[in-house]
Amino acid sequence: GAERTKNVLILMSDTGGGHRASAEAIRDAFRLEYGDEYRVFVKDVWKEYTGWPLNDMERQYKFMVRHVQLWKVAFHSTSPRWIHSVYLAAIAAFYAKEVEAGLMEYKPDIIISVHPLMQHIPLFHPSVNRLYCPSEEVAKRALLDGLEESQIRVFGLPIRPSFCRAVFSKDDLRVELEMDPQLPAVLLMGGGEGMGPVKKTARALGESLFDRKLGKPIGQLIIICGRNETLASSLQSLEWKIPVKIRGFEKQMQKWMGACDCIITKAGPGTIAEALIRGLPIILNDYIPGQEKGNVPYVVDNGAGVFTRNADETARIVAEWFSTKKDELRRLSENALKLAQPEAVFDVVKDIHELACQRGPLANISCMLSSSFSSLIY
Ligand code: UDP
Repeated sequence: GAERTKNVLILMSDTGGGHRASAEAIRDAFRLEYGDEYRVFVKDVWKEYTGWPLNDMERQYKFMVRHVQLWKVAFHSTSPRWIHSVYLAAIAAFYAKEVEAGLMEYKPDIIISVHPLMQHIPLFHPSVNRLYCPSEEVAKRALLDGLEESQIRVFGLPIRPSFCRAVFSKDDLRVELEMDPQLPAVLLMGGGEGMGPVKKTARALGESLFDRKLGKPIGQLIIICGRNETLASSLQSLEWKIPVKIRGFEKQMQKWMGACDCIITKAGPGTIAEALIRGLPIILNDYIPGQEKGNVPYVVDNGAGVFTRNADETARIVAEWFSTKKDELRRLSENALKLAQPEAVFDVVKDIHELACQRGPLANISCMLSSSFSSLIY
C-alpha cells in the first residue's frame, strides 16, 4: 500500500564546505534512491534557532580560520573534550527548547545530524540510533565513548552522488575543460574557502614544472580558489611559464579531479574523500588545527599521499611525480583507490531506510554523522 511520505531533517552548520556538502549529498541520495518516499529538509540549526554565539558560528568560524593562530589558541587553550562537555553543552542546553520547538515544525520522522555540536541537544547522543563513521578508527573511539556496536556503522564519508556514480574519461574531460591534452596535471586547492598556502605553492609549481634545459613545461596547473576571490585575482596577475588555469568556486569538482593526476589541498575531509574516489595521490599542505589534524595520518599512513607545509618541497615532489617518479605516483594512486568509499552516501541512506522500515511508521529515528577520518568529535 502507499506509505505516508516520511520527513527527514538534516541538521548542519555552514562552517566550511564540508558539512553542507555531506548534508546535501545525503539529501540527493535519498531522492535518487527513494524518490517521493522521503521529503528531506536541510537546516542550519544554529543560524536559525539560536541566539549568540551559536547563531554566529559561521561568521566566527570563517574569521577564525582566516586567522589560524587565533583558532589554535581557541582550540588548545581549552581541550576539545572540555569545550564540548561543558561550554557548548551549557549553551546548547540553554537553547535546546527553542531548537527542538523549531525542529518539530518539520514533523521529522528521521533526524540526521552532520554537525558534532548537535550531540548536546538532548534529542541526540548517546541515544542515537546510528552513528555513521568515515573510518574504523572513528568507530573505535565511539565504542570507547560508550556507544554500542549496534549503533555504529562504518561506510565512509558521504560524498555528492554526482561524484560517486558518474565515470568520465580523462581525455574527454580535458577537452571539455580546455586543458592541455597531454601534460600531466596537478590540482591545487584549499577547501570551499580557498585556504592554506595556495599562492606560495602555485608560484613554486610555476618554477618546478618548467624544464629549463628543454625550455618547456613538464606539467600543467589547475588552481581552484573556491570563494576566496582575493586569492583568485592575485593569482591572475602573475605571469606563468607553464599552462595554468585559475578558477573560483567550481560546481563540478568531479570533473576537475577527473581531469588531473594528483592534488594538493589542506586536509579537509570532503576534498580528501573525493580525491580518493578519483584515485588522486594527495599532497596535504595544511590542516585546520584540531578538527582536520587527524586526517593527515589517515592519508599518509594508508599510502595515499604525503604531508608537507613547505611549498618548495611540494613543488619538487610534484615535479618528480611527473618525471622520474611516475611509478610512485601510480602506486599512491592505487592506494587512494583502495581507500576510496564511493558508495558511502548510498550505504547511509539505505541503512536509514532499513531502520525506518524495521521500526515502523510512528518511531522516530536519530542519526549522527562524523566528518573526520580519525576523531569522534569532529
Ligand atoms: N568545493 C567545491 N567547489 C570549490 C571548492 C570546493 O565544490 O570551488 C567542495 C569540495 O569539492 C568539497 C568541499 O567543497 O566537497 C570542501 O570540503 P572540505 O571538507 O575539503 O573543506 P572545507 O571547505 O569544509 O573546509
